[in-house]
Amino acid sequence: MTFRGDANFDTTSVSRGGGGGRGGGAIAIGGGGILTVILVLVSMFFGVDLTGLAPGQPIDPQSQTQSGEEITGCTGEQANDPANIDCRMEGGADSMSQFWETTFAANNLEYRDPTVQLFDRQVETGCGGATSAVGPFYCPPDERIYLDTTFFQQMRDQFGASGGNLAQLYVLGHEWGHHIQNVTGDLQRVQQGDTGPQSTAVRSELQADCYAGAWIAAASQTADDDGGAPLLIAPTQTEMNDALNAAQTIGDDRLQQMGGGGVNPEGWTHGSSEQRANWLATGYNDGVGACNTWSAPQV
Ligand SMILES: [Zn+2]
Repeated sequence: MTFRGDANFDTTSVSRGGGGGRGGGAIAIGGGGILTVILVLVSMFFGVDLTGLAPGQPIDPQSQTQSGEEITGCTGEQANDPANIDCRMEGGADSMSQFWETTFAANNLEYRDPTVQLFDRQVETGCGGATSAVGPFYCPPDERIYLDTTFFQQMRDQFGASGGNLAQLYVLGHEWGHHIQNVTGDLQRVQQGDTGPQSTAVRSELQADCYAGAWIAAASQTADDDGGAPLLIAPTQTEMNDALNAAQTIGDDRLQQMGGGGVNPEGWTHGSSEQRANWLATGYNDGVGACNTWSAPQV
């Protein structure tokens, strides 16, 4: 999936840095290897319940962390550059904003954007401090997506994912999906400690995957804010395979195997490789209306 070369992005707030700042000694994990994998395993795409704070709970503006430096002035050409993650996230966020705004408006619902904060190593958030080990996540109290971009490298190096441009945008689309759940109230259906292949935790994660797929399919059809051409060109099959590969790579069964233990479905919080790829494909093929993972007898 590629951005139109002359596309301009200007609607959303994507920033880098802020909070704990860059390079300030991340919490030592120590030992590496298995411990790191286990930490990643429990927290990967953790997304919704870092602290157990209720969605929408207001936070003291005084305590709100700085959002860092705003990313502006990116072109589509820059967003397509494999080395330019910041511009790609800015472009993806703009497209997602337009897609969800349009989708909500079509249903007479009021929409509001999340903000996106890119960081590396560590960051202070409305949900507390976080390090790279947590993986990308969404923090409901400050309605902000936190994305450590070294995660994309980790997806390739540690998990063996293809990790191309669309795989990266899928990750952003998944976290954006959690924001949609926060706005619609679906996020509150997740019961703390409820795990397993058919659990509320997994249903929430699969819906976020489905929403990401719906955005991928619609992105090349959604006019930009000024009514101009869509920001993106429809994905090729190769690009779509790259996104599906990412979803499979971060399936709970795959991560459990990588952690050296056996596969234990009762411990799943995000869904198996198969579940995740299936729901991403469902959103892609059938759109937002097909993403009701809550009423599906089996997900
Ligand atoms: Zn998630």
